[in-house]
Amino acid sequence: MSLSLSKKASQVKPSSTLAITAKAKALRAQGVDVVGFGAGEPDFNTPDNINQVAVEAIHSGFTKYTPASGIDELKQAVSDKFRTFNHLEYGLDQIVISNGGKHSLTNIFTAIINDGDEVIIPAPFWLSYPEIVKLAGGIPVIVETTMEENFKITPEKLAAACNEKTKAFILNTPNNPTGMIYSRQELEELAKVIVEKDIYVVADEMYEYLIYGNDEHVSIGSLGQDIYERTITCSGLSKSYAMTGWRIGYTGASKEITKLMSSVQSHETSNPNSIAQKAALEALTGPQDKVEEMIAEFGKRKNYIYDRLKVLPYVNVIEPKGAFYAFVDVSAIFDKEYQGKKIGDVNALATILLEDYSVAVVPCTDFGFSGYIRLSYAISMKQIGKGIDQIETFLKELN
Ligand code: GLU
Repeated sequence: MSLSLSKKASQVKPSSTLAITAKAKALRAQGVDVVGFGAGEPDFNTPDNINQVAVEAIHSGFTKYTPASGIDELKQAVSDKFRTFNHLEYGLDQIVISNGGKHSLTNIFTAIINDGDEVIIPAPFWLSYPEIVKLAGGIPVIVETTMEENFKITPEKLAAACNEKTKAFILNTPNNPTGMIYSRQELEELAKVIVEKDIYVVADEMYEYLIYGNDEHVSIGSLGQDIYERTITCSGLSKSYAMTGWRIGYTGASKEITKLMSSVQSHETSNPNSIAQKAALEALTGPQDKVEEMIAEFGKRKNYIYDRLKVLPYVNVIEPKGAFYAFVDVSAIFDKEYQGKKIGDVNALATILLEDYSVAVVPCTDFGFSGYIRLSYAISMKQIGKGIDQIETFLKELN
């Protein structure tokens, strides 16, 4: 036996969104005033009522193991939220509370994937999906979408990608990184294909509250019994409640899948963090006014960043409808020269922006779209303005 390493783990790339954010933080620690359009993390503090409940949980000794899949009170709150907001009926035995959305996804794919099963992922995609699928032994099958399609997979493309090895399809609405939202009709058409091909749909609805116009959030699992049985719905508290560090995600699924996920989780982490569960309970059942304020503010930032981006030279952008990302086509820049040299690709562009203009953006190579960058507008209006000013200055330097 040699001292070799796991092939599965070796295939996995580190998260570049987190790497860019860490790089920006390191520069800030050196005194550089960096504008961070990197990781999608609200700049707001977690609302005080939530923090307060967590402090009380600590003082009252709620610091021990909990049931592996989460405490019943929190599952009940999630079940109520599924019913009232998503129009989905999930009983307590259909819900697993996990340590964040990534953990929920890891549990889902561990529960449904056998080695070699294929999982369809529309591109552009959130960069962690293919990696999580690979870790579970699955094979990501990437299906490209276009700007003309508003970066949404069509039923024809979904059907064409299915074969006898297809196990699941990942649907993310509102979408990271595009900010697009699937309409009810689009979801009904996708649901028909999913039912016909008899595959699972993993519906990642992490940004479900973050919608700025007249679009409605529709949960695909709510569109009928056949699709409900094939849907695993996944969400969390990180984005809507400004609770990224607390790590609470949750799923609604069939009893069978839920049982497997709970068993897996009981060995992986024993339980989700006890204090964070109490905080999540307060988030879901307490006053919602802070959430509404945050959403209103994100909406203003979205309008501002889009208005600024759409008039810049060499870039192409469609108006985001939800989440807090602007997905920007920068491919026209690659042939331009900066300081006498061709820029070449999106990674080189991101490096120039960070090193010479103190602006952190996410190059979307790892999101399956190498001609694009993603800008998170979950930062203050002032920072957004400063960052776009810097990008504008950079664009003027090109020839
Ligand atoms: N999901 C967020 C993002 O896409 C946080 C960073 C990460 O987990 O990738 O930026």
